[in-house]
Amino acid sequence: MNPPTPAAPRTWNLTGYFPEFDGQVYRTFKQSLRQEIAARLSDAASTPPLAPENMVTWAAVFLAWEDLGARLAHLTSYLDCLSSADAASEAVQRERTELATLAAEHAKLKSQLLGGLRAGPPPAWLAFLGQPALAGATHALERLRTEAGHQMAVAEEALAADLGVDGIGAWGRLYDTVTGKMNFTMAWPDGRTEDVPMAQARALMAHPDRAVRQAAFAGSNRVWVAAEDTMAAALNAMAGTRHSLYGRRDQRHFLDAPLHDNSISRETIETMFAVLAENYDTPRRILQLGARLQGTPALAWYDLEAPRLPDEAPELRWEEAVALVDHAFGNVYPNLQVYFRAALAQRWIESEKRPNKRPGAFCTGSPVIREERIYMTFSGTMHDVSTLAHETGHGWHSHLLGGTRPCAREYPMALAETASTFAELVLAHGLRSEPDLSPARRAFLLDQAIGQAPAYLLNIPVRFAFESRFYEERRAGAVSVTRIKELMVAAQREVYGSALEVGGEDPWFWASKQHFFIAELSFYNFPYTFGFLLSQALFAEFLRAGPGFLARYEEFLRLTGSASCEEVVRRSLRRDLRDRDFWRAAIHALDEPAREFETVVAARGRA
Ligand SMILES: [Zn+2]
Repeated sequence: MNPPTPAAPRTWNLTGYFPEFDGQVYRTFKQSLRQEIAARLSDAASTPPLAPENMVTWAAVFLAWEDLGARLAHLTSYLDCLSSADAASEAVQRERTELATLAAEHAKLKSQLLGGLRAGPPPAWLAFLGQPALAGATHALERLRTEAGHQMAVAEEALAADLGVDGIGAWGRLYDTVTGKMNFTMAWPDGRTEDVPMAQARALMAHPDRAVRQAAFAGSNRVWVAAEDTMAAALNAMAGTRHSLYGRRDQRHFLDAPLHDNSISRETIETMFAVLAENYDTPRRILQLGARLQGTPALAWYDLEAPRLPDEAPELRWEEAVALVDHAFGNVYPNLQVYFRAALAQRWIESEKRPNKRPGAFCTGSPVIREERIYMTFSGTMHDVSTLAHETGHGWHSHLLGGTRPCAREYPMALAETASTFAELVLAHGLRSEPDLSPARRAFLLDQAIGQAPAYLLNIPVRFAFESRFYEERRAGAVSVTRIKELMVAAQREVYGSALEVGGEDPWFWASKQHFFIAELSFYNFPYTFGFLLSQALFAEFLRAGPGFLARYEEFLRLTGSASCEEVVRRSLRRDLRDRDFWRAAIHALDEPAREFETVVAARGRA
């Protein structure tokens, strides 16, 4: 095994996708994709609903939908890479627009599939699933069938989709447009005032100076007060639309659709939140350490994202960052190190700092060529080292899924961040056992290990509790803006308890958080808490059972697109997600790093 070559270029190589952008191979690929989608749409349109005599035809439609989806994903991944690495390229933007129309055509094929598969009686359905060509696709097909069972008549669904563009979709766009143009007056502690775009409020509330955070909070909330009626109208209209559609689609509970999207049961989510509510003290204690560091008895809402420790670690070179990740993976999880080295050697990682790159980081991949790519901009911080480990975790997950059929590689959001968080934990664990790690980097890693917990274990539960109660009350009619604020403050008090200053709540949090206004999704919250706790549980199990656990972990990752969350965990880890002890252990996995961090805090002389 060779160590990573330090001189490797920091830009990625995309020729595995296509020899060149918009060249002959690329154009032919796109052309054949377009033609085949059109041909399959007309085949499916002329096939009567599922019956014993046309099972083979519907299997062929499904196989085509799956294969075309994989090819579409190949193209999407390629263009995502190009547009992120060169945000200024108009030619790439044009191609992406064209890709959106191809994706819309592909979505029509799914509608036809739903229409065809919903009708078959149970014996025909079982015979259909038993066809050899569909081996390994049962979970995906069962999900389609469930979705089909909750469709209104074709004409009604079409009307709902058309009205949705000017209804629920328009409310979501209105939110984005109005908030995109918002500015607020920032009164700087030195007396200056400045008009600042609302998009910067969050960054200012993560400022090390408390006076800056407080001013940003006060200034931005004056704008939310002025806009609260508009925001409440949007929130009420979106929830009202969903309630109407759920009724007509025979979805009895407002959580049914988001739970289906995540392949998870209500019992699991309710158990998780109930156990968490009994153990809020664990994440609250982490916040109280932050309060101690800033010298206040508790935190205000605008302190929640404040940095606990100043970044004292010296700037890293890329080669050093690579060596840290490589070393940590090698110490703890050798297979992950092998994958990381292969990704570097094949130039799958784009990390160069240069103009015209989009901010952020992601991992993408193509099911056609079975390659992954990691995108980031390395600027020399320990945070970037974590990002590199995080994205490599995603890549490793895709790599392990590479042997399964395309429809079994699609995992729900609830399971999406497990591999990445696990890789971050591997990094922190692998480095913390290093004898010559500097105190500043050790403190950073500890902070990192526990620092995100309050967001997942308190902030997300606030959103879930608020949204659940709001949807419940919305059944009986529009909820007033006063009541919406009451619900929000009550949820914050209940979840944060004494870790949140009395009077330090944010009654307008529902308005400032875009997650409540996504037209395509509701309850864009519980999958975060679930994913975070699941990866904590997995890592705790690894620490307990040792390296022998890693084979089961890999089995877990391979199954993520083939069964419900409960089944995946049961089959690979032999654990029951409805077992309260599972969640209790996951939460208390944070105790030890929190205690270690407490000694760091104490050593700073404020304890
Ligand atoms: Zn991620």
